[in-house]
Amino acid sequence: MELRIGWLYPNLMSTYGDRGNVICLQRRCQWRNIDVSIVPLDRQTVVESFERIDIIVGGGAQDRQQEIVMRDLKGSKAEALRTKLESGTPGVFTCGSPQLLGHYYEPALGQRIKGLGLLDLVSKHPGIEAQRCIGNVVFEITASPLAEDLQTMLGEKPLVIGFENHGGRTYLGKVAALGKVIQGYGNNGEDGTEGAFYRNAIATYAHGPLLPKNPFLADWLIQKSLQQKYRTDLTLTKLKDDLAVAARKSMLQRLDLTNLKAAV
Ligand code: GLN
Repeated sequence: MELRIGWLYPNLMSTYGDRGNVICLQRRCQWRNIDVSIVPLDRQTVVESFERIDIIVGGGAQDRQQEIVMRDLKGSKAEALRTKLESGTPGVFTCGSPQLLGHYYEPALGQRIKGLGLLDLVSKHPGIEAQRCIGNVVFEITASPLAEDLQTMLGEKPLVIGFENHGGRTYLGKVAALGKVIQGYGNNGEDGTEGAFYRNAIATYAHGPLLPKNPFLADWLIQKSLQQKYRTDLTLTKLKDDLAVAARKSMLQRLDLTNLKAAV
């Protein structure tokens, strides 16, 4: 078995260690003898490469990089990405990437950047004077059917631990929130929502990076993409995640959240 991981603009969109998401997917596949290739999806990439991708990863970026990306990600490339995600190709998008998958992003300075409009959400930066949303974030996954899948996989409520650092505030339209904030700001610091979930695309403000800190999300993405590609109902072998579990426990302790009944 083989999976092709498409990595959106690796040089422009990988702030706060988001490349760790790609490495995490790669290693968790290799440990199970699943071959992996990593395909950069950037300015040099031809449209056909988008069509052969099994999982898509997009990281964070600062406003300036987002503008460069959006100048490139339009026309047939935007269409190819949209078709992939609409058809259910699993993906994980952090911070700047979800802002670009929405209708638009208004940066701290300069013009509104038009997004792909795939996710029914908008994002606005209230200006350079505004406080950024920075800190550890903990949220419970509520989006269906992801929450149910993970509950079955883990036997407990799926709890995500991450780190956020964004100026932009995201407001959801009809798209489902990925989760409900327990600690931190989430989408906008006001309505308690975090991220978005559409088809099999996970959009979040959580860096960390996200997947090494929450390995069950990596496994969900791998399992989904294998099921889609090979049309079989396979289950992944379990991996030893002692280090990740210890890191999660220690973070919950630091945040005084050890009483939460959730998967660690
Ligand atoms: N430019 C965006 C913001 O500040 C995204 C930042 C990021 O991706 N970490 O809101």
